[in-house]
Amino acid sequence: MSSQASLSAQDCARKIQSSRHLVVLSGAGISTAAGVPDFRGPQGLYVTRAYDPETVFDIGYFDHDPSPFYKFSRDFLGLLGDLQPTFTHLFLARLEAAGQEVWVVTQNIDGLHQRAGSKHVLPVHGDYETAACRRCHQAFTGAELRQKLAEKPEAVPLCPACGGVIKPDVVFFGENVKHLAEADRLARRSDLMLVLGSSLQVYPAAALPGSAGGEVVVVNRGHSAIQSRAGTFIVDAGLDEYFQEVAAALDPSTQG
Ligand SMILES: [Zn+2]
Repeated sequence: MSSQASLSAQDCARKIQSSRHLVVLSGAGISTAAGVPDFRGPQGLYVTRAYDPETVFDIGYFDHDPSPFYKFSRDFLGLLGDLQPTFTHLFLARLEAAGQEVWVVTQNIDGLHQRAGSKHVLPVHGDYETAACRRCHQAFTGAELRQKLAEKPEAVPLCPACGGVIKPDVVFFGENVKHLAEADRLARRSDLMLVLGSSLQVYPAAALPGSAGGEVVVVNRGHSAIQSRAGTFIVDAGLDEYFQEVAAALDPSTQG
């Protein structure tokens, strides 16, 4: 007997409809249907391509030798170029476009929320949309970084001003997560938090549902490590299937 209730798509739609401050916390599970491998899952990039996260995402190692990270990044960005946001990414962007306040706090570095059209996105583990020189801190756009990678397919991108190594603003081990104070403030202010595709095992983002000001709905395939408390609903379902039902309940005219 669990104190955590499941939630029908119709009831979830009602909660979304009555929410004024909706916060979404998304993890790898929202992007797997798009073809982004879960870094840690059985099909994860670490496993399938034999990347060693200890060297790829360690800032100390990067400053010693950035080439493993750039080997990973070329593959990852090449993969991303061909991918489309999932139904769930698009559903969240459409809610926002329809006038609902929706803040997305994401643990993902794939940029798919932004590509789907979401405007209020806090990537707590950073992403490839901005970059900076490790030596002189000159800033670069993601497009400038991608251009440098394309121009010299084997090389590590270097700062034209000082020759230092350019690093995208992806959060490495040994670096602080981003936007955490803002994410925590939004969580406290929220009247509904949707936790989508996160197993809630990576801190400090995993602590956000504990700050939620209202109800929390977790939709995830498989185990989720959320603390049991009143107002928490756990849905063990595929995200796109579930939110197709939620979308249909929100707008019955799209049904049939
Ligand atoms: Zn520089």
